[in-house]
Amino acid sequence: WQSQRPGPMLLAQVLPPVGLLLLGLVGAVAFTVRSLARAARSLAASEAGAQQLACQDMLTGLPNRRAFFNQLSATLRAPLPRCAIFYIDLDGFKEVNDVFGHDAGDLLLLEVTERVRTALPAGIVLARLGGDEFALLASGAHEPDDLLRIAGRICERMLRPFVVNHVELQIGASIGVAIAAPGTTAADLLRQADVAMYVAKDEGKGRARLFRPSMDEGVRAAKTLEADLRAALETDQIRLVYQPIVDAETQRLSSAEVLARWEHPTLGPISPSVFIPAAETSGLIVALGERILREACQQAARWPELKISVNLSPVQFRSVNLLQSIQQILVDTGFPARRLELEITEGYLLAQPEAAARVIRQLRALGITISLDDFGTGYASIGFLRRFELDRIKLDRSYVVDLADQPASAEVARAIVALARTLSLPVTAEGVETTEQAVLLSQIGCARLQGWLFGRAVDALSFERDWLQGKNRPLALPGYGSDNVFTLPIAAQT
Ligand code: C2E
Ligand code: CA
Ligand code: CA
Repeated sequence: WQSQRPGPMLLAQVLPPVGLLLLGLVGAVAFTVRSLARAARSLAASEAGAQQLACQDMLTGLPNRRAFFNQLSATLRAPLPRCAIFYIDLDGFKEVNDVFGHDAGDLLLLEVTERVRTALPAGIVLARLGGDEFALLASGAHEPDDLLRIAGRICERMLRPFVVNHVELQIGASIGVAIAAPGTTAADLLRQADVAMYVAKDEGKGRARLFRPSMDEGVRAAKTLEADLRAALETDQIRLVYQPIVDAETQRLSSAEVLARWEHPTLGPISPSVFIPAAETSGLIVALGERILREACQQAARWPELKISVNLSPVQFRSVNLLQSIQQILVDTGFPARRLELEITEGYLLAQPEAAARVIRQLRALGITISLDDFGTGYASIGFLRRFELDRIKLDRSYVVDLADQPASAEVARAIVALARTLSLPVTAEGVETTEQAVLLSQIGCARLQGWLFGRAVDALSFERDWLQGKNRPLALPGYGSDNVFTLPIAAQT
């Protein structure tokens, strides 16, 4: 008899499966460890990738604002920091984007990047801060003249035409340069370069300026202007004046353009060419524009059958409440819509043709007429205007100035007026200062004339006295009408 030995037997039975199980377990653990390691590796890689992406501009692949700021901060942390930065802002980029679309804008930015990159000496870092703003970081000591030479080279390259989608585009760049001083922070230095860039823009664009502490003054002045304008709105410092617009044939008053005037309590009169743009950038224009329209309607409601033209800023044109606010003003003042004309500029038509066409349609449905101001200064062609239900166009003053002695300008003016007439769009010429201009403009077919020859913009009382109380008769200008002695320079050629 052999005694049964359960232990070894059990062992013999159990060992193979357990062994297999253990082997499997070990394998599984090894597999898990391996894939965990792989996952960790790819996680680390994607984190590095994400970090790189967070520091990279998606379009150009350049370091972005954050990366630039970090690198600048690191450079400035050195015991004796030496570096300079450039703040580059493109001139006219927004217009290209508005007119030709974002895709063209993107392609242009890529071309710009390439042109700037290839203009740089080794060791200068190029970054895109966003939009049409770029920056350069030049580490080490640099002479101001050398920095300005580099900046000048970039400006010069940006002024050469770009070709995007077979269209030739003209832009430019304004550059501010700032050199680090002991204790300057990255934020300080960026601000200084930004201020210098604004000065470069203000002095005519397409140029570079080195930051000087006195420049801060100018920017402070702009901020002060904004605050003063806010106060001016609250205390009714903005007054309205009215400029006559006459019929080209009879020279009788046909309507009046409403223009804003600001008498600053300490600085004296400030031109609307200064405060309207300031009101636009600060957003005050919506309130200011409503104020102007309300007062103009209130005033003109007291006048007999006279049409008034009120300027509408593109910023107002874009605002969602425009229609409602105009309707309210017409109701409150009892001014008939058919006596109101709104002067708009082409910017918004080009940027948002559909939305603009809709707003124009709605305004016209109320009975308001629409004129296109400053025509001939921008990108819009007469053909493009067919898409909008306009009532008239205003030929820009620049054509009028050149009319009598610049054949090319006279030719363009004549073509514009002729084309507008075929589209049944009467043309008003603005800035008429001489009889010769008036005669030539009516000769080429302008229906209405506006300018100092006929009258300057004056306050409501003077306007009433000079234009509404029986004095509205033809000016009897010598050389006008039958004894016409003036000829257009192009007519003289042919
Ligand atoms: P704009 O709408 O083209 O207005 C015509 C400008 O030409 C006015 O300048 C007017 O005074 C001036 N002008 C008229 N006739 C002559 C002339 O014979 N010779 C010359 N050299 N100039 C003449 P102003 O009043 O300084 O206005 C400048 C611009 O400011 C206006 O140009 C318009 O864009 C803007 N603006 C003025 N008032 C308003 C307003 O109430 N709202 C808005 N949104 N813009 C306004
Ligand atoms: Ca105007
Ligand atoms: Ca104008």
